[in-house]
Amino acid sequence: MTNMTVQYGYAGEILRVDLSSNRVDRFPTEMYASRFLGGRGIAARIYWEEVAPECKAYDPGNRLLYFTGPLAGFNGLGSSRWTVCGKSPLTIPEQFSYSNLGGSWGVKLKYAGYDGIVIQGRADKPVYLLIDDGIVEIRDAAFLWGRNTIEVREILKQNLGKSVAVVACGPAGENMVNFASLLADNDASGSCGFGAVMGSKKLKAIAVRGNRRPKAAVPETLHGLTRRVRHLKKDAVGNGQQDLILGPKMKKDICYGCIGACIRQTFEAQDGTKGKYACGSAWFYQERAMRYYGEWNEIPFFATRLCDSYGLDTESVHTLIMWLSRCHKAGILTDENTGIPLSKLGSYEFIESLTKKVSLREGFGNTLAQGLLRAADTVGNGSQELITDYTSKAGYASEYCPRMYIVSSLLYAMEPRLPINQVHEIGVPLFAWLGWINKVEGSYLSSDIFRNIAERFWGSELAADFSTYEGKAIATAMIQNRECAKESLILCDWMWPITHSKHSDDHLGDPTLESKLLSSVVGEDVSEGELYVLGERIFNLQRAILAREGHVGRQSDILPEPFYTRPLRWAVQDPECLAPGKDGAVVSRKGAVVDREQFELMKDEYYIHRAWDVATGLQTTTQLGSIGLYDIVADLQKRGLTVDTM
Ligand code: SF4
Repeated sequence: MTNMTVQYGYAGEILRVDLSSNRVDRFPTEMYASRFLGGRGIAARIYWEEVAPECKAYDPGNRLLYFTGPLAGFNGLGSSRWTVCGKSPLTIPEQFSYSNLGGSWGVKLKYAGYDGIVIQGRADKPVYLLIDDGIVEIRDAAFLWGRNTIEVREILKQNLGKSVAVVACGPAGENMVNFASLLADNDASGSCGFGAVMGSKKLKAIAVRGNRRPKAAVPETLHGLTRRVRHLKKDAVGNGQQDLILGPKMKKDICYGCIGACIRQTFEAQDGTKGKYACGSAWFYQERAMRYYGEWNEIPFFATRLCDSYGLDTESVHTLIMWLSRCHKAGILTDENTGIPLSKLGSYEFIESLTKKVSLREGFGNTLAQGLLRAADTVGNGSQELITDYTSKAGYASEYCPRMYIVSSLLYAMEPRLPINQVHEIGVPLFAWLGWINKVEGSYLSSDIFRNIAERFWGSELAADFSTYEGKAIATAMIQNRECAKESLILCDWMWPITHSKHSDDHLGDPTLESKLLSSVVGEDVSEGELYVLGERIFNLQRAILAREGHVGRQSDILPEPFYTRPLRWAVQDPECLAPGKDGAVVSRKGAVVDREQFELMKDEYYIHRAWDVATGLQTTTQLGSIGLYDIVADLQKRGLTVDTM
């Protein structure tokens, strides 16, 4: 893909809006598409070029990068996801990060004529953007400021017509709560504090609409591939789990043009309130509410609704609540010294008080608004030791954690946030394998098939043995490359990669599909291997960005201390922590910790595989040149962040 045109698949232009000067520009997507594809790839490249390492998340110089990918707008593929990237105020230190959203906003941006938007500067008063079939207006948003995300969405739809899709920040974003989210149509929410970055720029919302549908270069091939995807993903939702999750008040709520091979759904409460209720956003308050009320109730749904309305990331609120609970039990935090009814944790009263105080930065809410890790530092008094379950830098909970999946340890250690798309690549087939172990009706993913998946997708059968560090370094690199390409196309985590299928002869999926889809859309042959090289380039670019921002090689590729010292007690998919072991054995990872020595040896193997410098974990000039990133070498050299091997 050296001279790829953007005649097919892409909208063809990227929009730049400078809120400080009210200037609107456009530049061709072609400048970036061949080397960085779309989505996170192009966003990372623009970030590298335009955001200085010393720029703070709330500085006008920070960029907010909203991007779709070349596959957005084509039906049946789970390909209309979109990303928001920029410097996150939540990570420690503040760093480049990313969030991935569903719904319909992303595809409507493309229909409006743009593959992405670069927002820079800061408005001197609240504004919103209207992007209407190519035409861009920066409009006064005084009437929207202070309103919650759902109200903003409804008001703009009333004023502009139902055909617009809206992404907005809420009061938490306006008040620069470090874990403020943004909310779009279909309640699609984005994390990493980008709602707060919107607020810092006084950008309340972006409304988009248009009729410029992308065309595929070879539509007949695309249709054939789409049929194959549909066939492979038929009945794919968790081997029958869908029926357990979808209750009478649930309705599927699929993203634009998708076949909905997932549990994305809306819930209707008794009072008629409807809203998103799926995965982490549905469950973050479930256990607490069950314990408090003693029976199933609608409070978890309303807890999610509160977070979405104020514009708070439920995952961050979840980890905050775990820590608050422990601090309360330890007597460090009380109802009195916080002004929050901690003694009623699990109740509606508690979650309403917490979300309001944090979002409006009232009283102790102002401390919590910094995010878990900074809040614990402020509270002190031993409260830092009560954070027992988190990833580094952003304070997210440790789903699919390194003690459970050894391969997750390097994935966690190198990303600025919980790398959910990467760990899902292992977690999704493992979930299906658990169904087979537990003899769930319709399950087919046996230990043999799991080994075949490992060989085809992760480099060797060794990656399927959860009891050993062998084979995990190469598996890590393969997952990172594939997932960076996926996040740039952008394909959905629920559907991709297709590692297994009930409907293929050998129950294996097909790793060639992503590159074939891209080829049929853009009209240029891209092999599976070439797509991974693109992913490798994007991963290495992100590595270079993070190095400039303080994540420097081996010394930074580390895990939070609890992963080395606190034995695993529970795993998100299975309380017994069962996993495949050697030669078809079933092992339990319960009680496991990450072995420091083996982890360091795994890093050696990984750096060698990447052709990085083994002693420092820094990228080398030769390696960067070999994957088409020679133009970033001089900057890294100047900062002492690369090892000269040329
Ligand atoms: S699989 Fe589900 S979450 Fe993914 S794009 Fe389709 S509807 Fe959205």
